[in-house]
Amino acid sequence: MSHALVHWISGPVLHARAEAPFGLREAVRVGPQALLGEVVRLDGDTIVVQVYEDTTGLRPGIEVCGDGLPLSIHLGPGLLGHIFDGLLRPLSGLDTPHVTPGMRRAPPGEFDFEPLLEAGAALAGGQAYGQVRGESGRVQRCIAPPDADGSVEWIAAAGRCSELDTVCRIRTAEGRLCELAMGHDWPVRQPRPVRARLPAGAPLVTGQRILDSLFPVALGGKAAIPGGFGTGKTVLLEALAKGCNADVIVYLGCGERGNELAGVLEEFPTLTDPRSGGPLMDRTVVIANTSNMPVAAREASIYSAVTVAEYFRDQGLDVALMADSTSRWAEALREVSGRFGELPGEGGYPAYLSSRLADFYERAAVVETLGGGRGSVTLIGAISPPSGDFSEPVTSHTKRYVRAYWALDVKRAQARFYPAVHPLQSYAEDARGFASWWAGQGNGDWLKMRRRFLTLLDEQAHLERMARIIGKDALPVRQQLTLFCAELINEAFLRQSAFSEIDRVCSPQRQAAMMRLIMRFIDLAEAAVAAGLHPERLARLDSLRPLQRMGEEFADDALERFAELEARLDSEFAALGGTPAVNEDSHATER
Ligand code: ADP
Ligand code: MG
Repeated sequence: MSHALVHWISGPVLHARAEAPFGLREAVRVGPQALLGEVVRLDGDTIVVQVYEDTTGLRPGIEVCGDGLPLSIHLGPGLLGHIFDGLLRPLSGLDTPHVTPGMRRAPPGEFDFEPLLEAGAALAGGQAYGQVRGESGRVQRCIAPPDADGSVEWIAAAGRCSELDTVCRIRTAEGRLCELAMGHDWPVRQPRPVRARLPAGAPLVTGQRILDSLFPVALGGKAAIPGGFGTGKTVLLEALAKGCNADVIVYLGCGERGNELAGVLEEFPTLTDPRSGGPLMDRTVVIANTSNMPVAAREASIYSAVTVAEYFRDQGLDVALMADSTSRWAEALREVSGRFGELPGEGGYPAYLSSRLADFYERAAVVETLGGGRGSVTLIGAISPPSGDFSEPVTSHTKRYVRAYWALDVKRAQARFYPAVHPLQSYAEDARGFASWWAGQGNGDWLKMRRRFLTLLDEQAHLERMARIIGKDALPVRQQLTLFCAELINEAFLRQSAFSEIDRVCSPQRQAAMMRLIMRFIDLAEAAVAAGLHPERLARLDSLRPLQRMGEEFADDALERFAELEARLDSEFAALGGTPAVNEDSHATER
C-alpha cells in the first residue's frame, strides 16, 4: 500500500513525501485518526493532499496512507430521509457533535430485501436485481453497479438484511465472482454512466406561478437563482423542495450559516408530501456543509450531492437537486486553490472555475438509464453574488450554462414582493418547447398568454420611467391601462407567499385558471377603454379585489370558483357597457 510522510501543512492542504507511488485523486488516510483526504497533485515524489476534516493539531512527520481507490461515497437504500455531511457521513443535526474523525460512511442500516431475479438470470450494469422497503415503507431498487456484467449465481431470499450483507453473487463472462450488497460505492467526482441522453420534453412543475408559467425549467434541465442577501433564495429553494413534482429531492446546504439550514432540518421532518401523503423527508436527502465545517469538504459536497442525484435517476426516478449556494462552493474552491499556490484569476477564483461550473451543470439530464428505464436530474443552484452584483464571475459563468435564470431583485424583496423573481431580468430558454405540455394541462393558449404577460410587464417598465417624469395622469389612457394591467399581473399572479397555506404550491390547473381569468379581465378592460371607459374606473370594480386575492383564496380543489368569478367579471363589465358584445353607444355615460 502506498504511503508518505507529511512535511508541510497549511489548513486543509498537506505536502507529503511519497515512499511508494500514489494515484491522482486517490483517497488517503492521514495521521493516527485516519482523517479522510484526497491526492490532488503529484509533483515528483511530493504529493499534495486535500483533507476533508479538521487538520488542527496535525504535525509534520505523520503518515499518509493510500486507499488505492478514488475518493468514493456509498450509495444505497439508507440515503433517503437522512442528513449527511459533504462526504455522505451521517449528521443527526447541525448542533450535535459531527462525524467522528476518520469516519468513512454511515453505519449500515437494515432493510427488507426482496429479490427481483432468479439464479441463472443475466445481470448487466444498472439493472435492478432486488428491491428494499425502507423504514417508511417506500420501495427502492437495488441496482447493479454500472460495471457489473454476468449471470446470477445466487440471490438471497426475501428477508431482513444488513446493508453490508451480500445479497447477490454474479459470475462474469471471464469467470470472476462478484458479490453485490444492496448498494455500492461510487467515485464522487465521476459522473455515472447512462445509455443515452434524451431530449427534455416536460417542465419540472415547481408550484411557483412565476416559474412554471413564465420561466419554466425542463425536467432534467438546469436553473440558477442569483440574488443578493435576503432576497429569498433559501425560501424559494425550500419552497421548490417541498412543492415540486420530482420523485426525490437532494437538498444541498453548502457553506451557508447553520441557521440558514435550520428551516430545512426543523421543518421538513414535520411536513407531509402532498403527492404520497407520507412524510416529506421520505423523498429527501439533505447534504449539509455549513460555514463552520471544513472548507475542503464543502468543495466535495457538490459532487457528492449530484452523484446521489444520479444514483436515484439510475433507478428510473425524476430527481431535483437544490444547491444553496454555489457561490459558497466557489469560495471553497478559491480558498483551497489559494493554499495550493495556484495563480488566481478573475475575482481571485482559479482559472478552472468556469469549467468546474460547466461540469456540474452538465450532469443535469433526462436519460435512458443503463437498466433501460428513464430518469432525470434537474439542477437548481442559488448564487449569492457579493453585494448583489450579477456581473461577478460565479453569476456570469453560471449564466452561460443554465437554461433557466431566475434573477431575484433587491427592490422587489425590499417591497416584500415574493418571490422576488424579476420578470424582465429572468429568462427560460426552453419555454417554447412546453406549449404542448401546457395544452395537455388544459391551457392550449399558454404560449400566447405568456407572451402577452411578458410584453405588458416590459411595457410597464418603460411607462413607469415616463410616468415618473411627466406624471401618470399625463400618459395617454391606453398607456394608463397598460400600467393597470401589468400591476394586476404582478399582484394577482406573480405574488405568491411561501407561507400561505393555500398558495404556497399552485397546481398547473390553477395557474392556468388564474392566467385565463387575468387575460379575460385584460381583454374586457381593453375593449371597455377602447370604447371610452377611463382606466381609473377599473380600480373601483367590485370584482377587482377578489381577482387580486384569488391566489390566496381559491384553493387547488376549488377551481369552480374561478368560473364563478369570471361570470361576475363578465356581468360587471356588461353593466359598465364595455364588453365587446355590447352596443358601442352605451359607453357615453362613462366618459
Ligand atoms: P436569502 O437566502 O436570499 O438570503 P431568505 O430566503 O432567507 O433570503 O429570505 C429572507 C426573508 O424574506 C425570509 O425570512 C422571509 O421572511 C422573506 N421571504 C423570502 N421569500 C419569500 C416568499 N417566497 N414568501 C414569503 N416570504 C419570503
Ligand atoms: Mg439564504
